[in-house]
Amino acid sequence: MQHQSTNTERRPIRRIVIAGGGTAGWMAAAALSKTLGKNLDIKLIESDEIGTVGVGEATIPTLLTFHSLLELNEQEFMAATNATFKLGISFENWRNVNEDYIHSFGMTGTDHWTAGFQHFWHKGRERRLATDYGDYCLELKAAQERRFAHLPNNGLNYAYHLDASRYAQYLRSFSEKFGTQRIEGKIAEVKTDPVSGDIRSLRLESGDEIEGDLFIDCTGFRSLLIGQTLGVEYENWNHWLFNDSAVAVQTASVSDAVPYTRSIARDAGWQWRIGLQNRVGNGHVFSSRYMDDETATRVLMANVEGEALVQPRVIKFTPGQRKQVWKKNCVAIGLSSGFLEPIESTSIHLIQRGIIRLMQMFPTNGIFQSDIDEYNKQANYEIEHIRDFIILHYKVTNRYDTPYWQACKDLDIPESLRHRIELFRETGRVFRIPNELFAENSWVQVMLGQGIMPLQHHQTADLMGDAELAHFLDSIKSHVHKVAMQLPSHQAYVEQYCRAPM
Ligand code: FAD
Repeated sequence: MQHQSTNTERRPIRRIVIAGGGTAGWMAAAALSKTLGKNLDIKLIESDEIGTVGVGEATIPTLLTFHSLLELNEQEFMAATNATFKLGISFENWRNVNEDYIHSFGMTGTDHWTAGFQHFWHKGRERRLATDYGDYCLELKAAQERRFAHLPNNGLNYAYHLDASRYAQYLRSFSEKFGTQRIEGKIAEVKTDPVSGDIRSLRLESGDEIEGDLFIDCTGFRSLLIGQTLGVEYENWNHWLFNDSAVAVQTASVSDAVPYTRSIARDAGWQWRIGLQNRVGNGHVFSSRYMDDETATRVLMANVEGEALVQPRVIKFTPGQRKQVWKKNCVAIGLSSGFLEPIESTSIHLIQRGIIRLMQMFPTNGIFQSDIDEYNKQANYEIEHIRDFIILHYKVTNRYDTPYWQACKDLDIPESLRHRIELFRETGRVFRIPNELFAENSWVQVMLGQGIMPLQHHQTADLMGDAELAHFLDSIKSHVHKVAMQLPSHQAYVEQYCRAPM
């Protein structure tokens, strides 16, 4: 009957109400007002009293695409958000205690159409002609050397570390310039139409009532509209992803910010360290099954550098997703739609994808169930692939030293991931599934990094003699080294390019 009720209610969509003003709410407001703003009336409601989740400071390169849609000035944006550059993530103690690797944003080596570079590297390693896999990737080398510069033709792939609160503020002034109207207040009631079940208005504690045609739920973990009001269930993935808690704290900088996120595995989770221009963001993500909040906080505070600038704060979450992220006239974007965990900094990316998808499928002349179904299908597909990539980090490890890591290693994983791991282990092959976020090189870096060494390589690599293979590998490595060493230090580059006002 859902089809019928949506159809009978179909009407043009002009009034957009965004509930929530965290990163999700303001990214949605910025994109909608910049691109479709002339035709729409956009209101955003946020409550200073409730505040935002206050974390989410590491991004991935796709954010550059979002910013180019908005035509943001990078230097201005970086100065306004105390941002630094990010070339990848350093995974420390993940494969085993005292063993590290970097998952970088770059390409490694040069592929042949029959076989990825890992096959040539694998043969080189067998013949003792190859060094670390990372030696053949510019972004990775630059990260290790703590260097950065913009190179022609996007020669260095990067993302940002940014201050989440300042990012929301920055996007707020941007959105207001393009016509978004901000309303401060606490939503006390979500009013629905008794016949169609559509959301009609949001009543604020002040008594004001904000009506709309389309509602975007950006209320964070509360999920006030799609979850609490429309009753869309949450699919819990805690059986695959054990982490359900985090404790976060900001500290003063005591050294130069490095151009990568640090992810340091701990006994029952992992710790992040993100260097901004003015401070460091730290957090300890952990599983409440294996560690309590007090112990997790103690572990974090024993492993930060610099004086704490705020009190450590515990955040609880359930890894998973809403079964539908668009229902009736409500689309959920951000934490209200689901959350995996921050290990690969994919949450802001999913916000951006949700917004872009909505703009591509914008229901100008009314909402069709076929649009809703397609939107939900695409959103589901996207998050499930990211989920598998994240589970990989826990499943494939040589750690077995604590009950948490034992449980991770013994985890029963989704069939889709099991196949990918086996394929790589047995043949060295990796294939990207169309439209999935992580490309071959990410899978290879993490699978090798976490400790899988393929049993064999493609025969194309065997067609090269030792001298030819050595020349091939050495020329890539020396080029990577030469270009990396010519880059300025990350710190010097940030200072001259986008220094934030003190
Ligand atoms: P919130 O920031 O919680 O905003 C919710 C908004 O809704 C607020 O403005 C609030 O005031 C408003 N609101 C709620 N209820 C009401 C009401 N009744 N009335 C009025 N307003 C209301 N993502 C990344 O991409 N990279 C990372 O490194 C990363 N790290 C993370 C670490 C942790 C521990 C966690 C938990 C998340 C992390 N994320 C990360 C995810 C990221 O923080 C979020 O995706 C992002 O901040 C968006 O949050 P949001 O806007 O959906 O929710």
